[in-house]
Amino acid sequence: MDIILPGSTIGIIGGGQLGRMMAVAAKEMGYQVAVLDPTPNSPTGQLADVEIVAPYDDLEAAKQLADVSDVVTYEFENVDYDVLTWLEDNANLPQGSELIQVTQDRANEKIAIEKSGAAFVPYHLVNSYDELKQAIDRIGIPSVLKTRTGGYDGKGQVMVKSQSDIQEAAKLLEQGPCILEKFIDFDKEISVIVNRNGKGETKTFPVGENIHHEHILLQTIVPARVELSINERAQHIAIDLAESLDMVGTLGVEMFLTKEGHIYLNELAPRPHNSGHYTLNACETTQFQQHVRAICQWPLGSTELQTPVVMMNILGEHVDKVVANIPNFRSGHLHLYGKNGVKPKRKVGHINVTGSELVTILDHITSLNVWHM
Ligand code: ADP
Ligand code: MG
Repeated sequence: MDIILPGSTIGIIGGGQLGRMMAVAAKEMGYQVAVLDPTPNSPTGQLADVEIVAPYDDLEAAKQLADVSDVVTYEFENVDYDVLTWLEDNANLPQGSELIQVTQDRANEKIAIEKSGAAFVPYHLVNSYDELKQAIDRIGIPSVLKTRTGGYDGKGQVMVKSQSDIQEAAKLLEQGPCILEKFIDFDKEISVIVNRNGKGETKTFPVGENIHHEHILLQTIVPARVELSINERAQHIAIDLAESLDMVGTLGVEMFLTKEGHIYLNELAPRPHNSGHYTLNACETTQFQQHVRAICQWPLGSTELQTPVVMMNILGEHVDKVVANIPNFRSGHLHLYGKNGVKPKRKVGHINVTGSELVTILDHITSLNVWHM
């Protein structure tokens, strides 16, 4: 595969914050950007050179995007199947369609994880009320029922803590086929972002330690407070996955770490990941620059960590307090996504706080009194 040179146009399917940060990286590197999103003036649309406003499953719009683009990528995994296969056959989609097919469906994801040799969370596929009862008998309680497709930020999942939760959980089946997973009593959640280009070169970013609140990522701490051997194992798992999938682009790999030192793979995301936003102010290359490098067939950049960093997500309910705190942000690097409509629980930005030591960074964040953990 030849290098796609600056001056060419990168077409992005999806106009959210991930597309916006990809677009910033692409523009810095001299590319033009086109975006396809159903909403005008989306976070990415605000910065793009070409904005195509149409539903994601509009094949004509996808053709229009392909017409103006030298390379096409996506910022989310729920790309319409017909659009995806059309692009694979008729446009330049270096990431291909397989990675999306794997990550769109939690059942395919489990098979891919198993194939790579990594440990996955025990599960059972569930299509009916009876199958749910059988699955609970096999997997045990507590467990988590999740829709196989379409879930994000904890949406599309229900905890099953006792037999009396079954009725309530079964309602999730109305949304489509589900998967029941054993609940892992993890010590920590960690993640690794891995990139691979078309020449098979692979690189990982430093492991992130992730803290969720009500199933939404709130904080990523880097370096993760884990043993060196865990660090190395987590990065190896991500590289093995990238190679086993023969992927091009970016993969966010979410993992559970238990007290005994077992690592279970939770989820895969075929795109830059929220837990990699810290790279914007703490790594030699950011995850968005790395994504552009990977899809444009550049050599991958150094992922070296240059400073300890803590990323805090800014949800709708945090934004006023964050803005009021700007005078205190000497080492706080603010990123706001330009979202139209600030709602509670909606991700509207993040801040990366850097410093010489994690403890002082964490104390500083506590003193801002924005996030209640
Ligand atoms: P999504 O991020 O798409 O909403 P996840 O499967 O990553 O879905 O679940 C969101 C969060 O819910 C996880 O980061 C974790 O905190 C919790 N969770 C999900 N599945 C399990 C599980 N099997 N055991 C323990 N916690 C879980
Ligand atoms: Mg997740």
